[in-house]
Amino acid sequence: MPDQARRDQLAASLAEVHQRIARACTAAGRDPGSVALVAVTKTYPAEDVVLLAGLGVTDVGENKDQEAAAKAAAVAGAGVPVRWHFVGQLQRNKARSVVRYADVVESVDSVRLASALDAAAGRHRDTPLDVLIQVSIDGDPARGGAVDPAAGPPPSDPEHDLRRVAETVAAAGTLRLRGLMAVAPRGWEPARAFEALAATAARLRAGHPDATVLSAGMSGDLEEAVRYGATHVRIGTSLLGMRNPLR
Ligand SMILES: *Cc1c(COP(=O)(O)O)cnc(C)c1O
Repeated sequence: MPDQARRDQLAASLAEVHQRIARACTAAGRDPGSVALVAVTKTYPAEDVVLLAGLGVTDVGENKDQEAAAKAAAVAGAGVPVRWHFVGQLQRNKARSVVRYADVVESVDSVRLASALDAAAGRHRDTPLDVLIQVSIDGDPARGGAVDPAAGPPPSDPEHDLRRVAETVAAAGTLRLRGLMAVAPRGWEPARAFEALAATAARLRAGHPDATVLSAGMSGDLEEAVRYGATHVRIGTSLLGMRNPLR
């Protein structure tokens, strides 16, 4: 697609997403400026990130290290500054790569991963790395996420205990604990999921008052997330279009 046509398409979908966020804020009695947009650009090219940045998007999300590293390099090479959020499941051996380009890692869900990021950030960064802890709302860490022991049975593996992960991040010299991220579990009403998440976020803030970020809500459920206090929504499909399902 020629650049101008793609730009027009992205401008239209971006306006629609901003409108949805603003309407959701109004419905929730919240300030429309209180929810930030993270454009999830996975599977889409660096050119789309550059176009989105030209339209005012400041934050982009990616979920695979190899793809993200290449895209971040291409966008930086084009002289375009954006903040990169890593939102995917992350192996410890990728920590060294991710800390070089990511501004925020939203998917920290184990003590081990927090420690690996701390060590890597100490070696490869000049500035602290912002961290969100990914929460498994249904208590099943299989698809990623730490478990809030105050919300149900404690995790079978203490590595994924939200309190322990939070303590590890908070004590790490090179990491800054900013808040939580979650995806509504399959088969759950989004409202029920985000209500539970809000309770977990309040418990975290009781011990870590600076952990005020709540990254929740995607193309299909941003309204419910905003209703329950999301400060960031992560939008892919509604902005960029359907992704190739085979990927
Ligand atoms: C892909 C992805 C999104 C965006 O999902 P859409 O439904 O396309 O808006 C948000 N968060 C995470 C963690 C993702 O992997």
